[in-house]
Amino acid sequence: MNYCSQCAQPLTVESVAGRERPVCKACGHIVFRNPVPVAVVIATLKEKILLVHRANAPLQGYWAPPAGYIEIDETLEEGAAREVQEETGYQVAIDKLLQVHSRPNTGIIFVIYQGRIIGGQPRRDEIETLDMGLFAPDQLPQQDPPIDSPEIDRWFFEVMADLLAQFEKGLDT
Ligand SMILES: [Zn+2]
Repeated sequence: MNYCSQCAQPLTVESVAGRERPVCKACGHIVFRNPVPVAVVIATLKEKILLVHRANAPLQGYWAPPAGYIEIDETLEEGAAREVQEETGYQVAIDKLLQVHSRPNTGIIFVIYQGRIIGGQPRRDEIETLDMGLFAPDQLPQQDPPIDSPEIDRWFFEVMADLLAQFEKGLDT
């Protein structure tokens, strides 16, 4: 982020209202760095949970619930359902908000929903996922926590491991 997104002039770092921020002296544009929401969906079908084997960072190579960024023209719930459909082909009904997690300097906020698979055809996204599957509580993939990985990986793993542990015990539906 070295050049102004508005006028392409170089940015300088200045104190703005008590906080250091990149500023464009040419046009006055101030760069605000704010975390963005990532929707995560615990989607179930007949007591099984939908997981995807992630092809990309964060948590590349791990099994995790479908997750993704929200687009500007959709609600969180719409974005959550769309991500499930794109990654797995399944249509889901979003039932309720389960949890919200934030951690400084990761750049994101996890917004976790519970949903039900109500249709669609299983068809994985070959770019985002290596594999996908529905897992019963006693068949969840056993995964070791990431070591020497970026903070975002370790945090995502913690959040996910906690969710899967809750699923194993039985989600409060
Ligand atoms: Zn500018």
